[in-house]
Amino acid sequence: MKKKSDTESSDCLGGEPNDIARYIAKAAEVRVPLAVSFELTRRCSFRCVHCYLGDQESIRKHRQQEMDTTSIIKLIDEMASAGVLFLTVTGGDPMIHPDFLEIYRYAVRSGLLVTVFCNGSLITDEIVSTFIQYPPRAVEVTLYGASQATFEAVTQQLGSFAACMAGVERLRQGKVRLRLKTMVLTLNQADLPVLWQRAEAIDVQFRHDCSIIPALANGDNGSHSNAGDNLHDTLRFRLAPEQAAAADLSITQVREKLQERVCMAAPTETGQPSSKLYRCGAGRSSCHITPYGKMQPCLITLQPSFDITAGKEAFQAAWQSISRLIPEQEAGAGFSCNRCKDRSLCTGCPSNFSAETGNAEQAADFYCQYAASRREKSASHEAAVSS
Ligand code: SF4
Ligand code: SF4
Repeated sequence: MKKKSDTESSDCLGGEPNDIARYIAKAAEVRVPLAVSFELTRRCSFRCVHCYLGDQESIRKHRQQEMDTTSIIKLIDEMASAGVLFLTVTGGDPMIHPDFLEIYRYAVRSGLLVTVFCNGSLITDEIVSTFIQYPPRAVEVTLYGASQATFEAVTQQLGSFAACMAGVERLRQGKVRLRLKTMVLTLNQADLPVLWQRAEAIDVQFRHDCSIIPALANGDNGSHSNAGDNLHDTLRFRLAPEQAAAADLSITQVREKLQERVCMAAPTETGQPSSKLYRCGAGRSSCHITPYGKMQPCLITLQPSFDITAGKEAFQAAWQSISRLIPEQEAGAGFSCNRCKDRSLCTGCPSNFSAETGNAEQAADFYCQYAASRREKSASHEAAVSS
């Protein structure tokens, strides 16, 4: 049987349905910014221990630097003209923004397919009514635990569990397209199977992620990696690589997808391995916008960064620059990922490495060990089942 190439998988155990994946591939070929993620604000009602945005008090100090609503409306117009189709509005929690509904409605009326990432706690009846009238592509809520104790150990916010559950229930009552997910940490790992079961019981798509990254400095768009060890504090809550792999394998749906990935060929088996550093959609068909009016390749890759507030077609100009620079960036001879046999099982990428090691071409140990452990545990499971 012909092995599939690892390039056929778009992201870690997720990915889009085939027709949309083909559409995205076409957009990447002609460099249309099909998918944009936009942090409306980094302010949030929670104080999660692992939050890569860093300290909320520092973030609040930068509030005056956030784009105003007029600039955001102009940005939406420019995005629609530039060919953006998928807009993910994220945060912080975007619903904390006083003009969230006005901005959301404007984006939907402009023809964008909008997904909203939020923590669930700020979902009001008015927001649900707007979602009913102007349906989102999806609303994705992160659940930080299955009980109040674990949930609030992560969010450090009393009452956050009840508020989130109430928000999810409002969305369900309104029959809004809902997706659920969790970040798996040392504090909530025991809740993972329960969260999956609960989502399945109410027929809602679920996913989990074990990849924690170091926090940004000063709550602004500073570097992840060059300002001292305190930035790595979030990593204290990351599972060890073997624990993360065990968490994945404990969930049947994830285990099955991993077993498909085990069969994918290493880049060296499918012809000439790519020489490029970035092989994802960043700068090809996607980019990220910060609340402070900067375009960067993705949420985690902070550079290069271009102002999208100055001038008439600033979004298009910034996209031209990013799409020229990022896809063409060559990896150095020491970059091992393009030849790696575990690539199809790996959640690491140059953005993660840059945040953790300060060097986009230096793979952080966590990712290599995590991928290797996924392979070993998948093989052990297969052997146990067939014996
Ligand atoms: S809900 Fe998200 S943005 Fe808010 S503190 Fe938690 S991780 Fe950060
Ligand atoms: S991070 Fe490690 S396991 Fe992942 S692709 Fe690179 S070399 Fe392979």
